[in-house]
Amino acid sequence: MKNRRVLLLLFTIATVLGTIIVCPIQLTYFSALETASRPHKLLYTLVHISDVQDLSQYYPETLNYTFQWIESKKDELKIVAVIITGDLVNTYNDVSQWENYLKAKKLTTVPIYEVAGNHDNDYGRDFTYYNKFIGVNETFYVVPVTRHFMLIGISWNGTSNLITESTLKWIEEIIEKFRNRYFIVATHYFINRDGSPSPLGKLIYRLHLKYPRNVVIVLCGHIHTRLSLSLGSLHVFVTNVQERNQSFVRLLKVYSDLTLVVELWRLVPKPEKLIEKQAITLSSLPCQAQKYNYKYLF
Ligand SMILES: [Zn+2]
Repeated sequence: MKNRRVLLLLFTIATVLGTIIVCPIQLTYFSALETASRPHKLLYTLVHISDVQDLSQYYPETLNYTFQWIESKKDELKIVAVIITGDLVNTYNDVSQWENYLKAKKLTTVPIYEVAGNHDNDYGRDFTYYNKFIGVNETFYVVPVTRHFMLIGISWNGTSNLITESTLKWIEEIIEKFRNRYFIVATHYFINRDGSPSPLGKLIYRLHLKYPRNVVIVLCGHIHTRLSLSLGSLHVFVTNVQERNQSFVRLLKVYSDLTLVVELWRLVPKPEKLIEKQAITLSSLPCQAQKYNYKYLF
């Protein structure tokens, strides 16, 4: 009862200030007055890259340039993490491709978070080289990347590319502990080219429906396209346009009003070019899961 009164009071104050509080627990609260009176500040930027296998095999100089570009923009954009959603190499057991990849990623000092794609571990059958070159503990992980965001990394796992009930439960337990954080899911294969979900995509979407305010972003690749899709309050980004000698990065710029400005940049062929840009307001997330009216019904 006391809690209800406190919430009512908070809601009244917020309404007076002209701000709509959609959920009782907001990650960050800024009043309309406050946000209108000052420009929004860039807090930090997350970078998404995917499917760089052709660069590792055929165009290592382009891959080098990609990480050099990230390093050169690190301070200006306040880049705090690079998230790479698999297919780091074309051939999972080709040491020279792994070495090209490793050499390139060392050109930035920004922390890098990877997951394995089907090319990295022979469709989940052989993690030997991925473990050797990336790390044995990088198959499934949940780590904080900023004060607002946790990152759930899910590698291509086994030929069916699914996670077990116990792994799912482990992820849910972590989300339960950090209900005041947003979660980004980084995985290789979430969606098909025709928009239908992968089997793992269905599981991740169910996770979103259970925690709609928390699980809000999916970063992925695998299908050869670029795609920005909002399934209700779940924002999905496919960033796989680096066919042959091309390089693309997606920037997720987080501003002080918790607006996310998402930009897709083509770095190679040069000169760099902004391909698409959109803004997402995370602070207006709904409290309840609203199943998106989507023809494939995740
Ligand atoms: Zn793939």
